[in-house]
Amino acid sequence: MNGRQPADGLLIREIPAMNEILNYDWISTWLEKLGRTHVKRVINAELSRVRQNIIENDAAFSPENFRLSCIKSLAGALRNSLKRVINATGVIIHTNLGRSLISESAVKSMSLVATGYSNLEYDLENGTRGQRNAHIEGLMCSLTGAEAAFAVNNNAGAVLLSLCALSKNTEVVVSRGELVEIGGSFRIPDIMELSGAKLVEVGTTNRTHLHDYERAINERTSMLMKIHPSNFRIEGFTSSPERKALSRLAHDNGLIFMEDAGSGLLADIKLPSKSSEITINACLEAGADIVTFSGDKMLGGPQIGGIVGKKKYIDVLKKYPLARALRVDKVTLACFEEILRLYMVGEYDKIPTLRMLNMNIDDIKSKALELSEILKTKLKAEVNMIEVSDAVGGGSCPEIDLDGWGISIGHKNLSASYVQKLLRSLDVPVICGACEDRIVIHVRTLQDNDFDILVKSLEGVYNA
Ligand SMILES: *Cc1c(COP(=O)(O)O)cnc(C)c1O
Repeated sequence: MNGRQPADGLLIREIPAMNEILNYDWISTWLEKLGRTHVKRVINAELSRVRQNIIENDAAFSPENFRLSCIKSLAGALRNSLKRVINATGVIIHTNLGRSLISESAVKSMSLVATGYSNLEYDLENGTRGQRNAHIEGLMCSLTGAEAAFAVNNNAGAVLLSLCALSKNTEVVVSRGELVEIGGSFRIPDIMELSGAKLVEVGTTNRTHLHDYERAINERTSMLMKIHPSNFRIEGFTSSPERKALSRLAHDNGLIFMEDAGSGLLADIKLPSKSSEITINACLEAGADIVTFSGDKMLGGPQIGGIVGKKKYIDVLKKYPLARALRVDKVTLACFEEILRLYMVGEYDKIPTLRMLNMNIDDIKSKALELSEILKTKLKAEVNMIEVSDAVGGGSCPEIDLDGWGISIGHKNLSASYVQKLLRSLDVPVICGACEDRIVIHVRTLQDNDFDILVKSLEGVYNA
């Protein structure tokens, strides 16, 4: 406090009252545009910030700063908060940036169903009530070889529904090595508890044997469950039983064998070498009765929870009351159906996630070259093309770094973190990496229409 008085109390008394502020000239246009309730809420938030600033920093009240920050917040209310950003991180399925991008053709399907009425739950042949699941079940079965299929809001919902409907008040055996927390707060022990199933952990974090499962089975057991460990990997001395052995053990004991496959790999697409991702088909072939997966990870579709497997179990899920609470909305369903159709006809290159995943390194390099040539001529900064590591993201293929190319940009007066902050504050924010106090633009995840905006944004930052 270095002896400076007056203390907070006096400074705080300088802050105008709400009624006074509402009568200011500059407020009137905002009152007209946004209405009194919203304007008051914004001003209240600003007032508490000012008070906080006085208490913490002994800062004097500045009417002009207050006016400017109010106007900034009020103007913000006229713009959408959820908006497009440029992903220059090289992480394809970036959980914080919306995971998978939706293909153009799926956007068309979504738009038709969103702006017009549809046969969502209408049987056009008989003129009677239909099932929303009917639009996708056949496709899901054809693509995975399953007897039956169902979809809910997301994979967390798919796991919850399956456990509730099939294992409530019974025991479910899971390997300790698979009890992971997945980014975005998905924890199997929590979901299990919520479902009313009792989790029985077997084995150790790095090794679980078939006899560990065997010993855990008793008359209360209903299910053996396998979970994709996502972005969690233990290297070295590890082991877990083969799927086939697990499913045989389950079936010999009259139990259900369920797998949470995570990423939802549908086709045998060429994956980066060393990948341990397996397809949904392979899970089913190995004997899983139920397999659940996300729609917006490696499948490259909308947020959805796919459930495929034996008809007798899927039928139970469909009728379970929780299914109604987790149902998929029509726009998402339209999107999912179109993506499944792209898989059916093998048009994988129309699915952005798969396209970015399978990008040829020479194509990435020429994309980087093109961008670096433009930036070198336009920016008053040091521009270099560099090799980078990209990532699949979304908990898929965590063991794999994808070789990529990027542009590193440095400036003696602008720190990388400062530039990153400026780039995040733009109308179309740019999210990029940094290395050795230079920002790094990974080109793999740049979309065609990102290029011009990105160049203009960087000019704004470095040439200002
Ligand atoms: C991502 C993931 C989930 C959660 O899926 P959402 O679709 O995000 O709900 C569950 N289990 C595994 C193994 C995952 O990888």
